[in-house]
Amino acid sequence: MLTLSDVTVRFGSRARQRTALDAVDLSVAEHEIVCVLGPSGSGKSTLLRVVAGLRHPDGGRVLLDGADQSGVPAHRRGVGLMFQDHQLFPQRDVAGNVAFGLRMRGAGREERAARVTELLDLVGLPGAGPRAVAALSGGEQQRVALARALAPSPRLLMLDEPLGQLDRGLRERLVVELRGLFGRLGTTVLAVTHDQGEAFALADRVVVMRDGRIAQSGTPLEVWQRPATAFVARFLGFDNVVPATVRGTTADTVWGPVPVPDGSPQGERTLLIRPAGVRVGASAQGLACTVGARTFRSGRVAVLLRQDGSGDAPPLEAECGLRDAPDEGRAVGVTFDAAEVVVLDAREDGGGFRAAPAAAKQSS
Ligand code: ADP
Ligand code: MG
Repeated sequence: MLTLSDVTVRFGSRARQRTALDAVDLSVAEHEIVCVLGPSGSGKSTLLRVVAGLRHPDGGRVLLDGADQSGVPAHRRGVGLMFQDHQLFPQRDVAGNVAFGLRMRGAGREERAARVTELLDLVGLPGAGPRAVAALSGGEQQRVALARALAPSPRLLMLDEPLGQLDRGLRERLVVELRGLFGRLGTTVLAVTHDQGEAFALADRVVVMRDGRIAQSGTPLEVWQRPATAFVARFLGFDNVVPATVRGTTADTVWGPVPVPDGSPQGERTLLIRPAGVRVGASAQGLACTVGARTFRSGRVAVLLRQDGSGDAPPLEAECGLRDAPDEGRAVGVTFDAAEVVVLDAREDGGGFRAAPAAAKQSS
């Protein structure tokens, strides 16, 4: 349904030019939910604005149902865009907001009223039509913005950080509701977010973006299981990502030899060791480490281990159960489970080994 081919967008004058989108190829099939995931500033909103017709690309083409959109103005593209900050009209009530797109299309009063009722039911706000927008909670405003975007039945619905401003509990509930809703309606969706949880819960396919380029595209499971690069792995929250030399089923790393699955790519590579694959045992066995900081994470404990006698080695993160997490300061022996080790295809992607992955983990 949607195809972007070689789309490039640059901002600024020649001297201080910034490429927000760099030759992006992306397609979305009918009924598919695609979620673009990337840190703040990676070009996500720009991508949606180009598809919506609010910004002309400096290069490349946008096709909708096979038709080139270069001469087509925004209101003729038949796409809906829900902005990052909702942009509801404060002076209109809920019904007035939801009916906005229908009005623009010249729908009559009765048709509008019926559609508003239907949509407010759909987003879980039955009877909210006469309420003032300013009196709604953040979650309710989000639903109104969604109803407004859905009202004209766009062939493609685009969502910019759809749940970004909500607190975690509501976000996790809404994302499941949204996925169900889009499935029932058969809506084709292109969403963008910096929040990996949101992307993975919502999408049929996740597209990871970095600096205006696509770093990886795949099903949530594929991307989660096999991040393409160190950047993607770190952006997903993995910290045990190091250079390695792979020979057979062993990788030589800063933490010593680590077993890797049969058939892994060979030679100079990047290694990801999932925290679940870091086994913490008695100090006599395996890599000698000392337990550092411990952090509780939804029912598990993330334990940072410092390799004894090796000041240069980065801390190793292990995932432990609540009861078996070792105490801080304890001497332990670490072994690795090959099933949780992934040899990434690329050796490096120019930034994957920065000491602090903070930029990738922060919210925008
Ligand atoms: P994201 O939505 O992923 O946070 P954006 O698409 O908003 O990223 O921005 C991508 C890059 O383009 C950023 O470096 C941003 O500063 C720049 N940018 C976006 N919009 C404009 C604009 N109107 N003028 C100048 N630079 C812009
Ligand atoms: Mg944005």
